[in-house]
Amino acid sequence: MNHNRVLIVYTGGTIGMVQDEHGSLHPFALDRIYDAVPQLRACSYDIDSVTLDHIIDSSNMSPSMWADIAGIIEREYDRYDGFVVLHGTDTMAYTASALSFMFKNLSKPVVLTGSQLPLGMLRSDGRENIICALEIASTRLAVIPEVCIFFENHLYRGNRSTKLSAENFDAFESYNYPSLAKAGINISFKERLFLPMPQGRLQVRTACDTHVAVLKLFPGIGPEVVNAVLQAPGLQGVVIETYGTGNAPTDPWFISALEEAIRRGIIVLNVTQCKAGAVKMRQYAASCDMDRIGVIGGGDITIEAAVTKMMYLLGSYPTDKEHVRMRLGQSLRGEITE
Ligand code: ASP
Repeated sequence: MNHNRVLIVYTGGTIGMVQDEHGSLHPFALDRIYDAVPQLRACSYDIDSVTLDHIIDSSNMSPSMWADIAGIIEREYDRYDGFVVLHGTDTMAYTASALSFMFKNLSKPVVLTGSQLPLGMLRSDGRENIICALEIASTRLAVIPEVCIFFENHLYRGNRSTKLSAENFDAFESYNYPSLAKAGINISFKERLFLPMPQGRLQVRTACDTHVAVLKLFPGIGPEVVNAVLQAPGLQGVVIETYGTGNAPTDPWFISALEEAIRRGIIVLNVTQCKAGAVKMRQYAASCDMDRIGVIGGGDITIEAAVTKMMYLLGSYPTDKEHVRMRLGQSLRGEITE
């Protein structure tokens, strides 16, 4: 039987550090992956790797790098059975969300992983994470047609994931959708939770419009802050992080500021500050005015998926705001529960 083939795309992050002879940590060259993870010599699939031009701490991640990663996967799509993206944990959920929107009709697994401790350290969680991510990306037992994050025994839908801990190995969570697989003695896949296998060919769209903002509400927020955001030059869309099931102050100045922005063509998406649960517009009187003036309810979307979805839709349909508004309220890649 031919071996399955996996391509690793290495972008940087904590995982890619090994100790030199003096004990200092440096990014490792991916062609030394078998030195860093010797267990991979025994694996039953073929691994190739490519490294981005600049290896980064993922705090420096950008939409143009999402396009680079998507471009590599598109170029190599027919030659590999699955893809593993090694990525820093800090913005991994944003990259996973962005890639999920950029790939339409994805029929192969794209698994992002990283680690909390560098591969070069004795107690690193990176070895386990890489090995499981590669197993999942290469397996013939269950082909996952999704962009996912594997971390500390769990495989999550990428656009449902959030980094929740800067301390624990168990660093990610998907509060509003169950994990797609769990690694124990065996890796158990929950296939009924996967997105359906698409019929058409992969389509990749990488244009993003970064003229977006996140406006997080807090008790006491005043017009100077709200207006500074809503009047930012070139602004096209705002994700407003509201309370509970999508509630916000009912002060006339606040509603007028939003209404005036919407009149100028700015798209406003309502996402809850809560980690779990969903925006339900009109459940409380405190969201009725926003509904009336045209704020869009984001349902149970994560903030990472909301921001990247807005960038993606504004980039893909720059002249059709109505279409952007409509698609924001719908699930494109399983990012909201409908
Ligand atoms: N700052 C690092 C990064 O996101 C953290 C990590 O990889 O865990 O690149």
